[in-house]
Amino acid sequence: MPYCSVCKIETDYEYDIALSNGDYLHYSCIILLQMQKHEIETALQRQKSQLMLSLFVPDEGVEQDVASAETESEDLRAKLEKVKSVLTGIYDHLPCWPPDWEERKRRVIRQNGSLCSSCGKEQDGYLVHDIPVFEGGTNELENLTLICATCYRSVYREADMFGSFTLKPSQSEFAEQVSEIQSAIDSDQRIRFDYKKPKAKRWMTRVVVPERFLNIPNNRESGETLCVEGFCELRQDTRVFALERMQGLEVVED
Ligand SMILES: [Zn+2]
Ligand SMILES: [Zn+2]
Repeated sequence: MPYCSVCKIETDYEYDIALSNGDYLHYSCIILLQMQKHEIETALQRQKSQLMLSLFVPDEGVEQDVASAETESEDLRAKLEKVKSVLTGIYDHLPCWPPDWEERKRRVIRQNGSLCSSCGKEQDGYLVHDIPVFEGGTNELENLTLICATCYRSVYREADMFGSFTLKPSQSEFAEQVSEIQSAIDSDQRIRFDYKKPKAKRWMTRVVVPERFLNIPNNRESGETLCVEGFCELRQDTRVFALERMQGLEVVED
């Protein structure tokens, strides 16, 4: 059993998060950290207003109060920085969009400007991953880039359903898997396969209700990765799986 990287207690597969750096943690531990952050921020805010007030109502001992309040604020600010950096480290490796996505977008714009990284036009853009999360990409700033709505639509288009979906020559190796998955989609059956994420140490068996195929751009020679999106019973959530990372695919006979 893996250990939660926050509380160091064993995690339970059913309810936990597998980070892209190989760490595991409890949902509850993230929520606890978020609550701590909120509490410290509130305490700091309260202190600030008390300090302001005391400056307008001078009485004896005010200087001492101010001095001790300032020490206290410093402690709180140090604590806040610590909690924030733990949270940022977790959000960096979440296998989905992190809660501070908008903040990350602002930071990318501050760092690289607001031009589309693909066509160079100025437009209110989308923040996207250079290396997709399912390929081991992280939410760290160096893996994020801004592209405009036009480029976003042309690159991240949905693959057609299999009816009119023609496999590219480079994807012919997946023909057998595609037809098997398609038959499962058509007959509302589940598929079972072993899956290994890029940095994971071992294969894990997944049972998934497949919904559709997607071609997702990658930075490799192939240009696109053929994926299937579906409801994962292990994670109890919709996930995207790259066909090239599957092994032992079979349709589950009910
Ligand atoms: Zn924990
Ligand atoms: Zn563009």
